[in-house]
Amino acid sequence: MKIFADNTIIKDFINQNNYSDASKTLFEIQKNDWQMLKNGVNSLSAVKTKSFQFDGFKIKAQFNAGRMTSTSAKVDSKSISERKCFLCVENLPEQQRGILYNNYIILCNPFPIFPEHFTITHKEHQPQRIVDTFSDMIDISRDLSEYYSVIYNGPRCGASAPDHLHFQAGNKFFMPIDDEFHLIKNEYGKEIYESDDLSMFAVDDGIRKFISIESIDRDLLIKTFSRFYKIYSEIMNEDREPLMNLISFYEAEYGWRVIIFLRSKHRPAAFFAEDESKMLVSPAAIDIGGVCVFPREEDFNRITKEQLADIFKEVFVDRSELEKIIIECTKI
Ligand SMILES: [Zn+2]
Repeated sequence: MKIFADNTIIKDFINQNNYSDASKTLFEIQKNDWQMLKNGVNSLSAVKTKSFQFDGFKIKAQFNAGRMTSTSAKVDSKSISERKCFLCVENLPEQQRGILYNNYIILCNPFPIFPEHFTITHKEHQPQRIVDTFSDMIDISRDLSEYYSVIYNGPRCGASAPDHLHFQAGNKFFMPIDDEFHLIKNEYGKEIYESDDLSMFAVDDGIRKFISIESIDRDLLIKTFSRFYKIYSEIMNEDREPLMNLISFYEAEYGWRVIIFLRSKHRPAAFFAEDESKMLVSPAAIDIGGVCVFPREEDFNRITKEQLADIFKEVFVDRSELEKIIIECTKI
């Protein structure tokens, strides 16, 4: 199939099961031979950032005009059914190439936030859902871990293609939370469970609420996530997938660290405002991981630390829901 990169260096890395370097090489090659990606990467040099320091962590605001389509994407079922799926192989840009990884294709994201930003799509058109694909996510995270963290945005919580299963990957430590996790956990974390094999914490840092699971044992991690998922679904009273964004960070020595951001809504009220209070911001994993994207310069210019904190607080579950999750997860 023409979609797969026909390059001996990439093939050599794949043969060595080294998907980190295969992906990095793909990005380097596509940056030169695919104009759309070249433009996207070049536009990153025009990105402006400012940093807000909170007690023990920071959130950066990034003005990134290239993210307008994604931030403002219509994800209601009518809009989705009326458009061609942009992640299906037959609809990908002519010059795009990818790497086959099990049932997935690793693709360069031509509208990057990370310096090297990938979309990892399922080969087939099937809905975005985590409950039975969590094991895929952590495998990808392990196999790309030399350079990249892997993220997941729920179908009603930031995925701009809720109808086509996909993850994203980007440079480790680009999101401040990759680096700040332990500080945040020590300062704001409440232990749910801790053993030699697995550690589970609940964190409320004042603007975000999340559950972290750290383990080097793949099966135990999968089992724990699956139990958490059931509890979270019940507490949020959801038949559909409860709202969440995930970041998986893997190191050979310590194993996985999965952060599960607990969300109450997809977009803040300011997103829908029709007066001057409108703020085009649509928080998903990267944003709440500490790089909050603003595709409109005027929003970037006027956003304050207090406003950003309020926007984050608005889209996370409340304290009582977190308490219920802690109580139920403690029984696991
Ligand atoms: Zn599709």
